[in-house]
Amino acid sequence: MPPKQRKIAIMGYRSVGKSSLSIQFVEGQFVDSYDPTIENIFTKTIRINSQDYELKVVDTAGHDEYSIFPSQYSINVHGYVLVYSITSLKSFEVVKTIHEKLLDITGKSHVPVVLVGNKTDLHMERTITADEGKRLADEWRAIFLETSAKQNASVSDIFQLLVTEIEKADGNISEK
Ligand code: GDP
Ligand code: MG
Repeated sequence: MPPKQRKIAIMGYRSVGKSSLSIQFVEGQFVDSYDPTIENIFTKTIRINSQDYELKVVDTAGHDEYSIFPSQYSINVHGYVLVYSITSLKSFEVVKTIHEKLLDITGKSHVPVVLVGNKTDLHMERTITADEGKRLADEWRAIFLETSAKQNASVSDIFQLLVTEIEKADGNISEK
């Protein structure tokens, strides 16, 4: 089967680890200081159920609740990774406003989303419980994951699960 091309946007407040997660996924390394203003598109092919998916991962610059949702993030984007840091209440609030804008701009009641609580290695500084994250994801009917880009914990799961969600939304995988 020819590869399917899927475009994924990674969004969230600044400094939550969007670039670190992208680079960990694509290059398998943790980069400690990556220019926060850089917007990049990474490409990586993954295989799920003997189907290749060529992923274009759009690593966006940070957003806050006042940012206008740029239309290039809603056109031809199949699914979203919304990232907060488990150490930052502010970043948790910001993903909520991003999600609202996402529904507004796409005009849909549901879009494929993985909600990610990153930086689990900083457990001493945790301010958002896993339960709170899970509850928010349930409200959205989204997938919830906690990750550490630094320790490469559950990073590839983000993309595997999101592609599966995208396929479900396309009707290619039946929901059981
Ligand atoms: P972005 O602005 O959302 O793209 O965030 P970056 O990926 O640039 O990361 C912001 C800062 O958080 C950098 O200093 C990263 O090294 C750090 N960081 C990112 N992910 C993790 C993580 O999982 N654990 C820890 N301890 N630090 C992280
Ligand atoms: Mg970045």
